[in-house]
Amino acid sequence: MDPLRPTQMHSSCPVCGEITLKGLWEVNGYTIARCSVCSLVFVQNLVTAEDLAAHYAGGTDDAYDDTNVECLNYYYQKLGSLIRSRFPQPGRVLDLGCSRGWFLDVMTGWECHGNEIVASDAAAARERYGDRIVTGSFEEYPLREGYFDVITMQDVFDHFRDPILTLERCRRLLRPGGLIVIKVHNISCLYAKLTGPNFYAVIPPSHLFYYDAQSLTNTLSKSGFQVVQSKFIGHLLKVKTVFWRLSRGNADSLFYHVYKTLDGTSLGEVKFRKNLHDIITVLAVKPA
Ligand SMILES: [Zn+2]
Repeated sequence: MDPLRPTQMHSSCPVCGEITLKGLWEVNGYTIARCSVCSLVFVQNLVTAEDLAAHYAGGTDDAYDDTNVECLNYYYQKLGSLIRSRFPQPGRVLDLGCSRGWFLDVMTGWECHGNEIVASDAAAARERYGDRIVTGSFEEYPLREGYFDVITMQDVFDHFRDPILTLERCRRLLRPGGLIVIKVHNISCLYAKLTGPNFYAVIPPSHLFYYDAQSLTNTLSKSGFQVVQSKFIGHLLKVKTVFWRLSRGNADSLFYHVYKTLDGTSLGEVKFRKNLHDIITVLAVKPA
């Protein structure tokens, strides 16, 4: 059990306010609940910014390092094409949780901005994008009303403690007609249904929310966005990364031992395409 686990709990749904919540699972000492009205799945423990800072001091995701850029780019290029199909003329893009700036690298011709909380990653992105990369939490990001054409959040929205507050800030940063793109794990995919609390993305307190097309659409609608597209975009994965994900960071698990065995071998580096509908990408617009 996580010794930092908060004992204060959400008494209502963080998105719709409903008070009838159904406890689903206990994972890592955290309670995961589902709202009986809007079907949102979330960590019911009230996690503070300090709790998360202590948690993230323990390490980051193996898939996000310089040796894995080719795999990450597979998705980034598909997303870049999708954005360009809607915006043939380059504009201004903000990538929240931009890591080392790899997604921005595929948005050539665009005015690229990023926000990243991990200082070493932000520093790497700043080498190419300078002051357009802001280090720190999104709560501290400067509010430039109506400035951006596109805001993207890839593998980041489910980490935020307050999705409504996050989307409110995004809505203000976007110009009317601007686009928000959110990529998260899909808690309603068949794989998640079959594995329940053992689904590889169920890793509280890293992931505080577990969305699907319905709950994500509902959350965006509550915040004044209009969902225009929902897609399952495939990924390129290394064999070793699969075992890392399955281990969910638990160094005692069998999966972790397989990962360590494969790490540095040619088999571990073999890449394959995966699309289990376990990742959902939703595009929504701020009405003009
Ligand atoms: Zn709800």
